[in-house]
Amino acid sequence: MTFDPNDFKRAMGQFASGVTVVTSKHGETPIGITASSFTSLSLDPPLVLVSLNKKLFTHNVIAESGYFAVNVLSARQLEIGMRFAGMKPEIKDRFAGLKTHTAVTGSPLLPDSLAWVDCTVWATYDGGDHTIFVGEVKDLYVSELDMPLLYHNRLWRRSEAIEIPTVPMEVNLVEVGLRDGIQREEKFIPTEMKVEYASLLADAGLKNIQVSSFVNPKIVPQMADAAEVFARLPKRDDVTFSALVLNMKGVERAIAAGVKQLEMGVPASETLAKKNANTTVEDGIAETAEMVKMAREHGVKVRVGVQVAFGCAYEGKIEQAKVVSMARRFLAMGIDELSLADSAGLGNPQLIRRVVQEVLPLAGSVPVVLHLHDTRGQGLANLLSALKSGVTMFDTSFGGLGGCPFIQTAKGNVATEDTANMLHEMGIQTGVDLKKVGALSRRMEEFLGKELPAKMHKVERRDRRLDERR
Ligand code: MG
Repeated sequence: MTFDPNDFKRAMGQFASGVTVVTSKHGETPIGITASSFTSLSLDPPLVLVSLNKKLFTHNVIAESGYFAVNVLSARQLEIGMRFAGMKPEIKDRFAGLKTHTAVTGSPLLPDSLAWVDCTVWATYDGGDHTIFVGEVKDLYVSELDMPLLYHNRLWRRSEAIEIPTVPMEVNLVEVGLRDGIQREEKFIPTEMKVEYASLLADAGLKNIQVSSFVNPKIVPQMADAAEVFARLPKRDDVTFSALVLNMKGVERAIAAGVKQLEMGVPASETLAKKNANTTVEDGIAETAEMVKMAREHGVKVRVGVQVAFGCAYEGKIEQAKVVSMARRFLAMGIDELSLADSAGLGNPQLIRRVVQEVLPLAGSVPVVLHLHDTRGQGLANLLSALKSGVTMFDTSFGGLGGCPFIQTAKGNVATEDTANMLHEMGIQTGVDLKKVGALSRRMEEFLGKELPAKMHKVERRDRRLDERR
């Protein structure tokens, strides 16, 4: 050998690869080791190949037991990957604290892996100081998620280039102030004023405006005039006016009112599904499929959302796999847009990024919209995180109006003027006229007799006072 074996290892370590853990059993003791040399070999019969150093104990155990499993680690299993690579020498039992399952062959399976294959040894080949084990796959599992742990270099760090943030040139803001924003306001906003606001928001450059919801007027009295609002909206080809519906009856009413785009949604939380609509998540998805079908048969565009995708006020953490699975099923319905809603405002930038990174590739050419609430002051941070993860469409409400009648902790949406201001300063176009939106927010403050949570409409007011003093 004319080179240092460590240099060879370092050279090989320059390649990004999925990290797998090969497991088997020595008597009753589970054993396992990280192996990056794993590949599929044949589909029929299903064969995989894994190569292990002859000096390894795991190598000898597999040669003796005749079976092994290969666990594909997820991006969140860095610690487990390093542990099974022997990089945590302080950990004597690599399986400590892990809730393993036993595969049909007897191999231990690691929890939360992205996938695993369970194999019996089909053949072994001599490979220098390694043995190539060919396994016949007896059973397998694939999770809904697809973010593998990548081995980028010997420190298991991603290279800088992958982390360089990119932002789009243009972002589309969907104005939801007239729906999500005002639905819990007790003071009834006259139909005429709602129509005028829809028109002025369109004049302010908002091309997608949600103006009402066809829901039970007894529960949401503010939305009782949905059909009338739609009948009186200005006829504009450059603007899409949409409405929210929660059931088949709502779809029928909206179609009758001439609505061209509808929004639907199912919570990712059983408790909320029960409290919100006295249904289950599964039944909600089934009903949504019927609603989508009917809307599309009438030429109505449909957006379907996963509600409380980033945390539920009742259930707390929402399983990411559940959100991804729901998104996958909605996309299969042939929808026009997919929405991920942080209805309770419990998301954080890291969580938003994780979920968006899973969902965007599934959506393909179907736009993914983020619906964010600023309950805990993380709205714009979450928005930026989604933006950097590839989302270019967001629900916002003028003045930061909002809240949900069913979710007590849900405060306003991220504000249209604050979002537009941040994006404009970053050099990203929205087509939204900040001053016009700010003026509408100030007028609504006067009408409702209370301060709205947005920031930029106040800045505008302060500037105006300064102007007056000059
Ligand atoms: Mg909302």
